[in-house]
Amino acid sequence: MPPAQTLIRGGLVLVENDHFEQASLLVRDSVIVDIFQGDGPDDLPVMDASGRIVIPGLVNGHTHSHGALGRGGVAQDATLEQFLAGAPALNGQRTAADMRLSAQISAAEMIRKGCTACFDLTGELPGPTVTGLHAVAEAYHGAGMRAVVAPMIADRTIYQALPGLLAALPDDMRQVLGAIRLPEWEQTLAICEEAFASWPVPVDRVRPGLGPAIPLHCSDPFLRACAALAERLDMPLQTHLAETRMQQVAAQDRYGMTLTAHLGALGLLSPRFSGAHGVWLDDAEAALLAKTGAGIVHNPLSNLRLGSGIAPIRALADAGVRVGVGTDAANTSDSQNMFEALRLAANLSRVRANSAQSWVAAQEAFCMATEGSARLMGFDRIGRIAPGWAADLLFLDRTYCHYVPLRDVLSQIVFSENAAALREVMIAGDLVFAGGKVLTLDEAALQQAAQDAAQRLDAANLETRLLTDAAGLLVRSFCHARCAAHPLPIH
Ligand SMILES: [Zn+2]
Repeated sequence: MPPAQTLIRGGLVLVENDHFEQASLLVRDSVIVDIFQGDGPDDLPVMDASGRIVIPGLVNGHTHSHGALGRGGVAQDATLEQFLAGAPALNGQRTAADMRLSAQISAAEMIRKGCTACFDLTGELPGPTVTGLHAVAEAYHGAGMRAVVAPMIADRTIYQALPGLLAALPDDMRQVLGAIRLPEWEQTLAICEEAFASWPVPVDRVRPGLGPAIPLHCSDPFLRACAALAERLDMPLQTHLAETRMQQVAAQDRYGMTLTAHLGALGLLSPRFSGAHGVWLDDAEAALLAKTGAGIVHNPLSNLRLGSGIAPIRALADAGVRVGVGTDAANTSDSQNMFEALRLAANLSRVRANSAQSWVAAQEAFCMATEGSARLMGFDRIGRIAPGWAADLLFLDRTYCHYVPLRDVLSQIVFSENAAALREVMIAGDLVFAGGKVLTLDEAALQQAAQDAAQRLDAANLETRLLTDAAGLLVRSFCHARCAAHPLPIH
């Protein structure tokens, strides 16, 4: 066990997410309690950080641990809706042990790439189980990561969610796909409540949340009940909001209003609410999100991979919406690299902007990817190096090529870093990555287990995959035609 009190000495430290100082950090009981310029006192156990750049851990505002075992299983031309149609083949037949394994390999990747906390919308088919949710919570606890573990839940299949989709399918497919049912939402929420009430790990690091998957995939009474439960249990709630153009087109068809207006009318929007993606949001939706204290998690890589678009992050931030950054799952981003997400958050803002004044700057992007995401998770004092804030720290090698020569440190981190210079990761004062190894997980054993599980699950889901591959193409064509026929006032 490391000493309860440590002086981290000799690093170039990003203080308050604002400026770098040659400073020493006193860490006690998982928290930064003091910052000394220079070397600090001499009578304390020391961790030598000379040659390191010390920054707060990156916070992944949106991912799916179940996606890690599905890595490599998403067609390279898949749109989001096609991907969703394929979910039964990607995620079906999983046991609680598979959920645990997927969360462990997901956590290992995030730690290796400098992420110390994540908001995990974890999915299980046909619906959540207590053992599955507990397995995921235990996986993060064992890995030493912070996480919000939110069951990703729905009471409509994609065929029930998108108006007109079933009618557009050929007869044989309509019969098979139209017959698929998800569990009743009352039953689903009862299981969630049971899992929360018997939460298996301390909630200081790993706590529960709620994840109604996509508004269109959840009936209105279900969404209202989710909001009420989140409020009663004081937990964060996250959904996929306006990820694709199709979702806004379907919202007009189903609700006669935008997705955000609909959620507002149902009472979902509040400071505990965050929407993942937010690609297709108009100005009125941004204003409504800001007014209610709700947030958006920007997932730039997944939005590019699935061709969903580029979220209007500048406009959202200017409207007063709280913004975080996420990677989305390892199977829709092909990586859970928060440094990549951070860089894209800054660079993609340039594609949409009319002038350089409205680009997302390096420091702004960095704050979104640290304390910004943490706030949306309901974590207090996470994502910044300051007295009283969590000792979640990354140690970068300042002799690595990204920093040679070293001039504008934060800019060089945001625009160059990809975790290649990452040497140590600390979470709550404990080292979880050092010497090229994740210290809290047996990565070699996980690698073997993941390969075995993938083989077994692919075989078990083979028949389903034949069906969903064909269905996915039909769903994609339907969405394409429906969007082409339905202009939206946003682009
Ligand atoms: Zn997602």
